[in-house]
Amino acid sequence: MSLSDTISQVRLARDITLPQLKEILESDDDKVMKNLYDQAREVADSVYGKKVFIRGLIEISSHCKNDCLYCGLRRSQKEAIRYRLSDEQILDCCDKGYRLGFRTFVLQGGEDAWFDDARMVRIVGEIRRRYHDCAITLSLGERSDESYQRLFDAGANRYLLRHETADRDHYAKLHPADMSFDNRMHCLQTLKRIGYQVGCGFMVGSPFQTTETIFKDLQFIRSFQPHMVGIGPFIPAHETPFAEMPQGSVETTLRLLSVIRLLHPHVLLPATTALGTLHPIGRERGILAGANVVMPNLSPLEHRKDYAIYDNKICTGDEAAECRNCTEYRMRAIGYETVVDRGDYMA
Ligand code: SAM
Repeated sequence: MSLSDTISQVRLARDITLPQLKEILESDDDKVMKNLYDQAREVADSVYGKKVFIRGLIEISSHCKNDCLYCGLRRSQKEAIRYRLSDEQILDCCDKGYRLGFRTFVLQGGEDAWFDDARMVRIVGEIRRRYHDCAITLSLGERSDESYQRLFDAGANRYLLRHETADRDHYAKLHPADMSFDNRMHCLQTLKRIGYQVGCGFMVGSPFQTTETIFKDLQFIRSFQPHMVGIGPFIPAHETPFAEMPQGSVETTLRLLSVIRLLHPHVLLPATTALGTLHPIGRERGILAGANVVMPNLSPLEHRKDYAIYDNKICTGDEAAECRNCTEYRMRAIGYETVVDRGDYMA
């Protein structure tokens, strides 16, 4: 069977075997890879049309109690500049974002006890009160079941928590001993049970990742059926234990975006900032490979460069309006429209 036939079979079955995944990831046939991207794009178009959803990303804290070996904001990172946004700053970002046409706000941050339940319930509640027509997405790491429930009750709709890897041994190589694979998985199940639209995901090319671990990621995505999947290349962050590790590949990320689209036609799939960091038109290529979401930055300019999860992150010097316009321009250039819409998962 040719590789083109394999791709058609994956599309038809919405399933993939390990040998099929290997064939796709190891191919050096650019023409067949173009065919993979086109098929994934066709599937995305059939569900979401020529639309790209935008999410306004607000990076609320660069403090983190965790020590993930890959992350530039890990607690051992002595050089990292730590900041927290006040309630007013967060609401101000939402206000700017709303006026720019954002109808989803993503509040992301390190695991920072300052943003306890009382504070987060107050912030989420106020955003909900001011913007009835917006979705509120949180990406604040692992919290207790009760905490997730409180934030949901306060008005949060979605939660992004990358599983990072579905392989227990691989997880242990990426995280310190005090972080638990089981708890990460428990959190994802809890979020879904509560009723959030849930996003999982992983870094492409993270240290010690293999085709076998990626296969487990895809199997996990198939069984968990998340609403969103965030994948982007691993990019080394200076002074972390992985500072000298090779970065993830743009091509592999694109191939995996396409495979995920073929396996899960309805999924909300961002073309990530990390992809844009490694290639000047990485996000555009991500959309053309089947992604349908971009997340321009709404964080206050004075703190942008301090949310330094990896080195050389793009868009750290642009105002929210510039990021919004730039995104629209880039998407138009490839035939896609950014829409003023919450951009919910279409079942
Ligand atoms: N603390 C929250 C959490 O753990 O989900 C959200 C913030 S965390 C910085 C967001 C994501 O950034 C992580 O899930 C991880 O996949 C990604 N990330 C961290 N370091 C990275 C790196 N060096 N390269 C690419 N992505 C990275």
